Amino acid sequence: MSRISDTHIEEVRTLTDIVDVVSDYVRLKKRGNNFIGLCPFHSEKTPSFNVNPGMGIFKCFGCGEGGDVFHFLERVEGLSFPETVRLLAEQVGVQLPEEDGLDEDTSEREAGYHALRFAARFYHDNLTKSDDGSVARAYLKERGFDAQSIRKFGVGYAPDSWDALLRAAETKNIGPDILAYAGLVVPRKERNGWYDRYRHRLMFPIFSHVGKVLGFGGRILRDEDTPKYINSPETKIYSKSRVLYGLYHGKNAMRHREEAVLVEGYTDVVSLYQAGVQHVVASSGTALTGEQVALLGRYVKTVVLLYDADAAGDRAALRAIDLILAAGLVPYAVQLPDGEDPDSFVRSRGGPAFDAYLRDHRQDFVAFMLAEAGKSGKMDTPEGRAAIQRAVLETLAKINDPLVRESYLRVAAGRMGLPDMQLRPLLEGIMKKRRSKDAHPASPARKSTVETPQNAGTVAPDEEALPAVDPAPPEKFLHFLMLDGGLPIIEYVMGHLAVDEFTSGPSRELAGELVRQYVSGAFDRERILGGAAGEGVRRLAAEVLTHLSEPSMNWERRQGISVPKLSDGPLEAAGSAMVLLRLKHVNRKLDRLQKELYRAQQTGAEMSHLLKEQAELLAWRRAIENREFLSTT
Ligand SMILES: [Zn+2]
Repeated sequence: MSRISDTHIEEVRTLTDIVDVVSDYVRLKKRGNNFIGLCPFHSEKTPSFNVNPGMGIFKCFGCGEGGDVFHFLERVEGLSFPETVRLLAEQVGVQLPEEDGLDEDTSEREAGYHALRFAARFYHDNLTKSDDGSVARAYLKERGFDAQSIRKFGVGYAPDSWDALLRAAETKNIGPDILAYAGLVVPRKERNGWYDRYRHRLMFPIFSHVGKVLGFGGRILRDEDTPKYINSPETKIYSKSRVLYGLYHGKNAMRHREEAVLVEGYTDVVSLYQAGVQHVVASSGTALTGEQVALLGRYVKTVVLLYDADAAGDRAALRAIDLILAAGLVPYAVQLPDGEDPDSFVRSRGGPAFDAYLRDHRQDFVAFMLAEAGKSGKMDTPEGRAAIQRAVLETLAKINDPLVRESYLRVAAGRMGLPDMQLRPLLEGIMKKRRSKDAHPASPARKSTVETPQNAGTVAPDEEALPAVDPAPPEKFLHFLMLDGGLPIIEYVMGHLAVDEFTSGPSRELAGELVRQYVSGAFDRERILGGAAGEGVRRLAAEVLTHLSEPSMNWERRQGISVPKLSDGPLEAAGSAMVLLRLKHVNRKLDRLQKELYRAQQTGAEMSHLLKEQAELLAWRRAIENREFLSTT
């Protein structure tokens, strides 16, 4: 390809907003003049990745990666420098000298993109301008698609011919080998040559999140034709598991609403978009994948699943829920009224009604699982109920954030009419097992985990290499009560607290050991004092048993919180200590938030999400102070 001149490169750089570009990969927050987020190049939990829009550069203080917008795209997309320039030029509307003709040094990939772009234009022109396209136009009209949507989504028509695309491409110097590389033509079986993959079909181009055509979904126009859809095959350009249909068009709405709606078909996406419901995507030609969910995680926190009310739909929804939770996002499930699909619903009732329906009929995953089980009669027998309970816990165990997991555990306990203390040890057990499985993979053939930075957050928080900190007085107090009181006190304490609410290191290890002993039904203090659970645990146990200090009186005086006293009896004292421990966690979060709010105030940055979080934490703190988490027993 002809070399891109420095003038053009500078023009592209000047017109490109680096924040816009990076926002396709990283959820950025404004911090003063900069933006910060979680680095896409290394795994981290607190943001050290900075973007400076004034200087047009990014810098990660965690791993050191940094540079300009071209370098960012080279790294994150694995593109060559000229490819990044062309990609950005297209987005900002800079006309580069057309790489018309395929010079020898044009990369195959570039040529493939070129062919796909050409094909999309060819199909679209056929739909909108040719006589051949009249059947398809009539079909779209009947389905209610307007001209604007057709243009926006680049909908097209593949003529009823074996070589219409081949011939048109030839006039533009695009050969069959490149068309084949792009998945557009198929080699003939009997003799040499090729034929068009798509014939007499409605064509939906599949765009990357930055708007490059990667492939197509071709839909039948005659009911007797099969299959209903032909999707592009996997190519070097199009990898189904990493692409979401509608993402390119919906990403701004998704970012704005912090939510995505997941539907099944291309036509659902287009008709919802047309009705003003724009935060919609479909996983085209494949069941939802972890990579697709990670892609959504760049833009949203919440994913609403629309599913069909049949067994296949339920299974798909359950699988999707697991993937969404594992990626740290929040899933909801919505079932449309009987006999409706998203397209028919939005056409008969309109976008605002659809939005309202999603809002009013969404179920959290616990409610969804229980409702499904109820429908199939599984909740009618004790064995069935136990199995469902187990399934819900297995799903809960996929949540990495302990606070989120805890709040869902309470939801689950409430919905199942059980005290959460009965569920918590079971949940801990599942998580323990999973962790030890992760630590010691059963099979050496386990494929090497090439983690994308987006799923790198799946490490359980206590697996992080945090320096061991001296546990707070309430923790030591609880350990004393459990070591002193044995199984009944362990049941009471560990029935209300999660193991990872204890400070990492010996304190958490001791809590884990006590839970294990509780589950096995045999309390064995000597084992712990003998060092069987580790030297740190032994030392801590010995310390609390011999030298116990009751948590500070300051709490009571300052906040009217009752301080755990041994004279209150072990259960009452344990309850007070648990309240103190939880308050400590929440107060730490509130302090951090206060600092963020202060900083946001100074810089005039967006604060609404911080205020919302603060309100939630304050409500959480009130609930703890009122001992609500203890009241289920
Ligand atoms: Zn980094």
